[in-house]
Amino acid sequence: MRRRRWWGWGYEGEGLGHDEHVALGALLGERFGLSGRLLEPPDPARLALPPPRLAPPASLAGAVGDDHLERLSHAYGKSYRDVVRALSGRIEHPPDLVARPRDEAEVVAVLDWCASAGAAVVPYGGGSSVVGGVEPDVGDAFAGAVSLDLGALDRVLDLDRRSLAARVQAGTLGPALEDQLRPAGLTLRHFPQSFECSTLGGWIATRAGGHFATGPTHIDDLVESVRMVAPAGVLESRRLPASGAGPAPDRLVIGSEGALGVITEAWVRVRARPRWRGGGAVRFGHFAAGAEAVRALAQSGLGPSNCRLLDPLEAFVNGAGDGRHAVLVVGFESADHPLGPWTARAAELVADHGGTVDAAWDGGDAEVDGAGHGGAADTWRSSFLRGPYVRDALVRLGALCETFETACTWDAFGVLHERVTAATRDGLVEAGAGAGFVTCRLTHAYPDGVAPYFTVVAPARPGAELAQWAMVKSAASEAILASGGTITHHHAVGRDHRRWYDLERPPLFAGTLAAAKAVLDPAGICNPGVLLDPVRHPLPGGPP
Ligand SMILES: Cc1cc2nc3c(=O)[nH]c(=O)nc-3n(C[C@H](O)[C@H](O)[C@H](O)COP(=O)(O)OP(=O)(O)OC[C@H]3O[C@@H](n4cnc5c(N)ncnc54)[C@H](O)[C@@H]3O)c2cc1C
Repeated sequence: MRRRRWWGWGYEGEGLGHDEHVALGALLGERFGLSGRLLEPPDPARLALPPPRLAPPASLAGAVGDDHLERLSHAYGKSYRDVVRALSGRIEHPPDLVARPRDEAEVVAVLDWCASAGAAVVPYGGGSSVVGGVEPDVGDAFAGAVSLDLGALDRVLDLDRRSLAARVQAGTLGPALEDQLRPAGLTLRHFPQSFECSTLGGWIATRAGGHFATGPTHIDDLVESVRMVAPAGVLESRRLPASGAGPAPDRLVIGSEGALGVITEAWVRVRARPRWRGGGAVRFGHFAAGAEAVRALAQSGLGPSNCRLLDPLEAFVNGAGDGRHAVLVVGFESADHPLGPWTARAAELVADHGGTVDAAWDGGDAEVDGAGHGGAADTWRSSFLRGPYVRDALVRLGALCETFETACTWDAFGVLHERVTAATRDGLVEAGAGAGFVTCRLTHAYPDGVAPYFTVVAPARPGAELAQWAMVKSAASEAILASGGTITHHHAVGRDHRRWYDLERPPLFAGTLAAAKAVLDPAGICNPGVLLDPVRHPLPGGPP
């Protein structure tokens, strides 16, 4: 059995090997003067946790427990803050108990018990939240906190091949979902970078952004209907391809981040696995020229499945560029037809904007054999998947390393990119990490706008990492909102983005959401603090 790391990304024994750590340490030494010493995670057995404040009823003994490692593993998500705190043995809000319901009836039973005990419930999918979404930091009004792990609900329950839809349990991890669809020749094709360790329920709860860089970029577009168990009952939307019948019920559930209830399953739109793929990498002398090419592609109606632009430094760091050129990775795919006309027109468009198409560019006329296009595009893809392991290695070697993202309309993009980059650099200087760097890539593109994604790498000051990152994050987030961006395109709100989310959402909408929560979750036990301030309403006859 592969075991998940309790303190960081991925599985024990996987990730970078000894020699790679040494090489990375040497690079950090050269660039930032860091020592190259690799911090070892603390022995979990030596980390003391406060005794659980709750005891499960006998009827739930098989599904709810207080195992030490389980509590540790459910204390944090996977942000820089989370990894730094875990590595230093600082476990701030461990859950009192971890529930692993084996079916929906047990989800209902856990919610009922928590409501009667005055305990908060934090739904937990893959735990890959980077915004404090799974940290049981629920305030003092609760008798305790239960992390509700959906991991046992991990099956594809039904396939409607005629409508191309699958009914899937919420705790199904990305690889398990694709493994179960593959024998039918089907795929969801939702591949966030966290694919390996995130779940369908988590994607829906956070409105995750996936594989498609244009068109159906968010999981929202792939959800046909959804089923959520709330303390007040079950809310299930109907299976329909589309409907004009008033505000859509599933839109209330998608993006609810566990604050309204627990998503237990969904019907999702699947598709035949692609048989043709085309495209490749394109080099640009300037990031701005590449961005114009992305705009032209997004507005062309060609609908590339991949369209990701890396700035020169980002391309270099990922081994996909020489550090002087921005690199655009363009991809088309189809289960139905060769792609020649699409790739040819895309090549014309990028050339019109000064792009030079890589020699490994693939016209997409021949059926694929599973191999990629080769060249810079493939290099970038494998670096993308290894990215989370490298991030943790950088943190263990003493670097501050984190990402943040946004979306804005095309008319705002140039200024936003400039201001956010400058504000982040200023934040690094203010935090005493001025030697650091900031890179940008465009991850998703729309006819009317784009989603820029920033990466920060800098030397961290031991003991001051969290304060340093807080300064940089504040500077960047303020610049994002001031330049017309949103606080998140796909990482979600969680607890960490609340300050800025509250500023960007319309006040009347905040009230409407609170009213919906009062109906679905009358005691206020569902993920308190996420999306809304924690407010507990003791139930009649329950604890005060
Ligand atoms: C290295 C890395 C790369 C990432 N790349 C991407 C990316 O490419 N695209 C992207 O969109 N995000 C990305 N993320 C962020 C994260 O993976 C997503 O937010 C993902 O959708 C979370 O899924 P999860 O199953 O891990 O949910 P969790 O982290 O377990 O939970 C996230 C939130 O959803 C709630 N939740 C989870 N399951 C349920 C449920 N069944 N019912 C109700 N609420 C639930 C939780 O309470 C929490 O608020 C990345 C994160 C990391 C660490």
